[in-house]
Amino acid sequence: MKISIVAPVYNEKGNIRPFCERLRKVLSHLRNYEMIFVDDGSTDGSLKQLRGLAKSDRRIKVISFSRNFGHQAAITCGLDAAKGDAVVTIDTDLQDPPELILKMIEAWRSGAEVVYAKRRARRDGFLKKFTARAFYRILDRLSDTSIPVDTGDFRLMDKKVVQAMRSLREHSRFMRGLSSWVGFHQTAVEFDRDQRKSGKTHYPFRRMLKLALDGIFSFSHKPLKVASWLGIIATAGGLVYAGYVIYLKLAHPDRVVQGWTSLTVIVLLAAGVELVILGVIGEYLGRIYTEEQDRPLYIVSEKVNFK
Ligand code: UDP
Ligand code: MG
Repeated sequence: MKISIVAPVYNEKGNIRPFCERLRKVLSHLRNYEMIFVDDGSTDGSLKQLRGLAKSDRRIKVISFSRNFGHQAAITCGLDAAKGDAVVTIDTDLQDPPELILKMIEAWRSGAEVVYAKRRARRDGFLKKFTARAFYRILDRLSDTSIPVDTGDFRLMDKKVVQAMRSLREHSRFMRGLSSWVGFHQTAVEFDRDQRKSGKTHYPFRRMLKLALDGIFSFSHKPLKVASWLGIIATAGGLVYAGYVIYLKLAHPDRVVQGWTSLTVIVLLAAGVELVILGVIGEYLGRIYTEEQDRPLYIVSEKVNFK
């Protein structure tokens, strides 16, 4: 049985060696494995380090992108290249403990086809913890596919699952959603998420928001329904108020010049609702456009240790 490890790397100079060492220790329990590092356009010399490691060990394979295509694209590329009977995707910053891989393999051997790592606790800042918690719960509410809460991209997938994942080529990629969407027998193993070993997160608020929106808009049409409901509510409210205004005009013509305040409030609210709805439609429209262009998900510039 061959195990493939897929690790995305973006400017992880200080983490690659410690990660590799810890991972090697874990993998020494296995006979057949490969480590695939996908360099996502690093600019800090990570790629050079990876090449060096690959020179001394043929089981270390490196794929590098022509530029930064993003974490989800890097994982996708790793899955496309992996040859194992099971594939484990794991971050390179040691936030995901490599030791857990053995537990995942155990669960896989006893029949699970997707084993995802669920965070029991996480040692991140307050804002990250809070927004992550809120996001997973909102997504779970909105999404038509049930996506397990508090899981990241640390998971083991059977070859069958990987094959299914390869057939999903959508551009707004949210791998944790896709890996539950494909189905199969899924289980969780729990762990405490560590802090980054070195360096800073590559997911500042803006990128986190983008990923969250990809998650929501790729797995739910509910925002469009919310738009319809807002429209219906606004129309109903408008009809009631229109009745009242006409009544005033007929019954108390002396009072109709009043109402500047209510008029202003209504105009502002209506404009707000319209823009929000337009924005929601725009989110879907932009995604349709990107899908229609159908550009490749990533572009490879170099491969090391692939036959
Ligand atoms: N990563 C990547 N491309 C990117 C951003 C991140 O390949 O554009 C990799 C990064 O090297 C790490 C993993 O994805 O191995 C997770 O990124 P990070 O630790 O910054 O995210 P966080 O754990 O803070 O959510
Ligand atoms: Mg991290």
